[in-house]
Amino acid sequence: MMHNKKVEIFIDTLPEFEPGWVWLVGAGPGDPGLLTLHSVNALCQADVIVYDALVDHSILSIADPHAEFHYAGKRGGKPSLKQQDISLKLVQLAKDGRRVCRLKGGDPFVFGRGAEEALTLVENSISFRVIPGISAGIGGLAYAGIPVTHRDTNHSVTFLTGHDAGGVVPDTIDWQGLARSSPVIVMYMAMKHAELIARKLMDAGRAADEPMAFVCHATTPTMTVHETTLGTVGNLSDLGFTPPAIIVIGEVVKLRVALDWFGSLHSHKLLKNSYSQVRA
Ligand code: SAH
Repeated sequence: MMHNKKVEIFIDTLPEFEPGWVWLVGAGPGDPGLLTLHSVNALCQADVIVYDALVDHSILSIADPHAEFHYAGKRGGKPSLKQQDISLKLVQLAKDGRRVCRLKGGDPFVFGRGAEEALTLVENSISFRVIPGISAGIGGLAYAGIPVTHRDTNHSVTFLTGHDAGGVVPDTIDWQGLARSSPVIVMYMAMKHAELIARKLMDAGRAADEPMAFVCHATTPTMTVHETTLGTVGNLSDLGFTPPAIIVIGEVVKLRVALDWFGSLHSHKLLKNSYSQVRA
């Protein structure tokens, strides 16, 4: 597909990975086609790859087969006591003169603790580069046919984490303010507490019939989308859905009937009149 001379010349201009550096790389939400050229460049040159649970194996397979792989497995909202260990491991590997690719799902600076790791690198005078990735809360929803903004529905969007470092719904969230000012709310790591969050939003004034969607394993071959409302959300794991899931609340969910391009590849029919439905 990309066998084009200009692309090859461009790829040659991508930066060289110097020994002793750490690159914090976003791997996107799952589909390897959503990797950036910088991230592929990082994978090809790295001699150590420290990766998270949400990074797909098809992405790891792009790396140099001689590279060393370290699993930094963090998953599922449990307090991660090991975060400092991971950061210090990056420091040590860099000090050993390795080219260290720290590969994270989505974007490293979106609910991924990338900033914490980068700060430890700074404290230890390790040179680093940040390679942004496509975040699940934007790209994952796009695969479900849900745009995070649409001119007729919302001029802002809020990204929220469903739990704090202790695994509970963050108590610093101003639910009244959020309910009043955020027409579209996109939630990460919120599957476990979705029902509670929906109740808090309704208590703060949001309508029970407001659309809500769960996009599980977004962009991967096992992607599933579940549409519901704030009032009827229920317990997702009881319905057989498994994490990771991105949750979106707001009128944009209604656009899915028209924009589910991915589903249409698998014979879902797109409805052309959804524009008026959203405005209704
Ligand atoms: N840095 C990541 C987010 C890390 S937090 C990013 O920018 O996407 C982990 C959370 O991301 C998961 O609990 C889930 O809410 C979301 N997530 C990551 N990959 C996902 C995927 N393929 N499908 C659905 N949600 C995903």
